[in-house]
Amino acid sequence: MTPTVAALDSRQRGALRKRLLADRASTLDSVAQLGFDIDSVRHSRRDSSTDDEHDPEGSTLAFEQSQTSALLRQAVHRIDQIDDALGRLDDDSYGSCASCGRSIGYARLSARPYTPHCVTCAARLNP
Ligand SMILES: [Zn+2]
Repeated sequence: MTPTVAALDSRQRGALRKRLLADRASTLDSVAQLGFDIDSVRHSRRDSSTDDEHDPEGSTLAFEQSQTSALLRQAVHRIDQIDDALGRLDDDSYGSCASCGRSIGYARLSARPYTPHCVTCAARLNP
């Protein structure tokens, strides 16, 4: 039985979409400030080993400096989360927990509009 989800109203969805797009733009800005093109970074990540810590090309890549690399990884991860969230907004699954299917409260979505999980599942997945 599918749990009943307290659907976000259209105003809330609109506000969260705006937040996601603004977050995406500012994340892209910070990547640009680091001197990188997000698409080429994502491309090189996908082409290389999934093991970030032991990337054989790591030392030849421009973002070898650990601080920059960490910021960049965070930014790429955030963009992926935001893109996923925008996809869920489009296919109407947004606002439902990806793990348990329960609705994610608007307060939580306001704080983390990109989150795919409710508070309970997020705590379970990232203790
Ligand atoms: Zn959940």
